[in-house]
Amino acid sequence: MLPRLRTLQATLQAYPTVRLLAVSKGVAASRLRLAYGLGLRHFGENYLQEALDKQKALADLDGIVWHFIGRIQRNKTLAIARHFQWVESIDRALVAERLNHARAGMPPLDVLIEVNAGGESSKGGVGLDALESLARAIVTLPHLRLRGLMALVRPEPEQADADFATMAAAFQLLQDTFPKQAIDTLSMGTSTDYARALPMGATQIRVGTAIFGPRSQETR
Ligand SMILES: *Cc1c(COP(=O)(O)O)cnc(C)c1O
Repeated sequence: MLPRLRTLQATLQAYPTVRLLAVSKGVAASRLRLAYGLGLRHFGENYLQEALDKQKALADLDGIVWHFIGRIQRNKTLAIARHFQWVESIDRALVAERLNHARAGMPPLDVLIEVNAGGESSKGGVGLDALESLARAIVTLPHLRLRGLMALVRPEPEQADADFATMAAAFQLLQDTFPKQAIDTLSMGTSTDYARALPMGATQIRVGTAIFGPRSQETR
């Protein structure tokens, strides 16, 4: 039913501490339920309303952890802060501040800074030059807990490898700069390149297509 998941899980046996985030944008709740039955617990969604609908449909499943990995519009920060345990796509201080404000009264929200490692203008994410100042802003916010970085890398294999290496170094630097924070998550590698991200130090891979198959056009 999810045949490629077996290949993925076999690869991950060599990396027992790495978390598999199942990226489920465009995938029906019934198929997430199937993935849950096969042991998956962490799900990544890009679109707020789609995610809220699935959360409702799957409310009976214990232990699901929802990660928001999409672009964050400022008018959606309230709902994102309240309905997800992780937000991986923070790329500006304003969004961090709004999420922090909305999270008051709840356990801290685990967050990653989204980094545009290859410097591609078509993609979101903060540049490496702005990473430290954004991290400094986030660690002052009491309702957010900075856990690490989410990488966007270039598609060509050699470029992706260079970007993974850049990200591993940035992650190490972040840990050294903020020794009191529990910075433990380097989210990098997707369906096409997770096998190369793993030996480069990924602690989480974000995989959609290689679990669920191609997404239909209308749902992106
Ligand atoms: C869609 C998406 C993924 C998963 O991509 P696949 O190629 O389907 O594995 C990973 N990360 C982000 C941020 C995404 O938007």
